[in-house]
Amino acid sequence: TIGMVVMDLNQKFSAGTSSNGARFKIPGRVGDSPIPGAGAYANAFGGAAATGDGDVMMRFLPSFYTVTQMELGSKPSKATHKAIQKILDVYPKFSGAVVAMDAHGHTGVACANIPKFGYNVAYRNGTVKLFQQPCLHPQK
Ligand code: ASP
Repeated sequence: TIGMVVMDLNQKFSAGTSSNGARFKIPGRVGDSPIPGAGAYANAFGGAAATGDGDVMMRFLPSFYTVTQMELGSKPSKATHKAIQKILDVYPKFSGAVVAMDAHGHTGVACANIPKFGYNVAYRNGTVKLFQQPCLHPQK
């Protein structure tokens, strides 16, 4: 999945995902990507987009949860970590990530159980910044 969060010049947010779907998916499976709140979510407070095991994510609505946490005062980094941790508390082997941006233009990313180097993230605000976010790897 590619997830994207965009703030326009009027500080309005959009968020979206483009997914090739889960491996070995059942024909006709919709998945999380087009479900508001699961794959992506945006409102006046910010936006978030998620990737990972969509059948798990649809039970937690991590994009909606992240934006709601920002609305309640969490910074994007904290909000995304809370969303991922909420899933890990139930599914410690969950593999996925959430990216977010708030109304100040601050960004955050959290990921879990993505092997090797972490999760690839790009920011663009005049210039492009690329980095790999190290992920949480619970022991359970
Ligand atoms: N979330 C997608 C799905 O379960 C898969 C992915 O993020 O790569 O359909």
